[in-house]
Amino acid sequence: MRGRRIVHYRRASALLPLEHVSRFHQARFLISAAAPAQFPPDVGAEVAFVGRSNSGKSSAINAIVQRRALARTSKTPGRTRLLNFFELAPLKRLVDLPGYGYANVPEVERRAWLPLIDALRTRASLKGLFVIVDSRRGLTSADEGLLEWALPAHHVHVLLSKADKLNHGEAAAVLRAAAPMLSGRATAQLFSALKGTGVAQAQDTLEAWLACSIIEKGS
Ligand code: GDP
Repeated sequence: MRGRRIVHYRRASALLPLEHVSRFHQARFLISAAAPAQFPPDVGAEVAFVGRSNSGKSSAINAIVQRRALARTSKTPGRTRLLNFFELAPLKRLVDLPGYGYANVPEVERRAWLPLIDALRTRASLKGLFVIVDSRRGLTSADEGLLEWALPAHHVHVLLSKADKLNHGEAAAVLRAAAPMLSGRATAQLFSALKGTGVAQAQDTLEAWLACSIIEKGS
C-alpha cells in the first residue's frame, strides 16, 4: 500500500514541470488599439497573427502562449476591428489582427482599419506574420494577398489549423498543396489547438523571430 503511494507521487511530480510551465509565462494583455497613436512604443520585436473569422486564430494564440483565454475566442465573425497587443516578455509582443484583406469585411469597416494595419506594417519592431488558415479550406487567394502585404523583411509562417479534423492522408495533402502557393516566400505547418499538434513547432518559430531582433538590437 505504501509502495503504491510512493510510485503515484513520483509519476505526478515528474510530469508537472513539462505540462504546466508556459514558455511565455509572463504573457499579458497590453492594449486594444483603435488608432496608431495607441500602439505601444516601436521598440523590441513583435509578431502579428492574422486569419479570417473562425479560422481558429484565437485558439491558436492561446495554445501557443499556453493560456486558456489570453485571446478571446469569438463566435461572432468580424466582431472586432481593433489591434490587440500582448506582451509575451519584455520588448517581445504578439499582435492579434482583425481579418485583414478578406472580402467579407464591409467597406466602411475596411476604411477604418486599413490605416491601422498599414501603420503596423511599417513598424521597425514587426518581424513577421503568422497566417492562420483552416486546413479544410486550404490557402486561398485572399491569404496570398497577405504574402504581398508583408514586406520582404518580414517572415511569414502559415498555420494550417484544425488539423485534427483531417485524417493523416488529407493533412499531408493540404500541406503539399500549400507549398506552391507559398513559393518559397513563407513556411507552413499543420496545427491543432485541440490536440496540441504543431504547437511546439509554432512556439519555436515565434521565439526565434522574437529573439533574433533582440540580438540585432544588442549587437
Ligand atoms: P477565430 O475566430 O479565428 O479567433 O477562431 P476561434 O479560435 O474562435 O475558433 C473558431 C472555432 O473553431 C471555434 O468553434 C473553435 O472551438 C474551433 N477550433 C479552433 N481551433 C480548433 C482546433 O484545433 N480543432 C478543432 N476541431 N476546432 C477548433
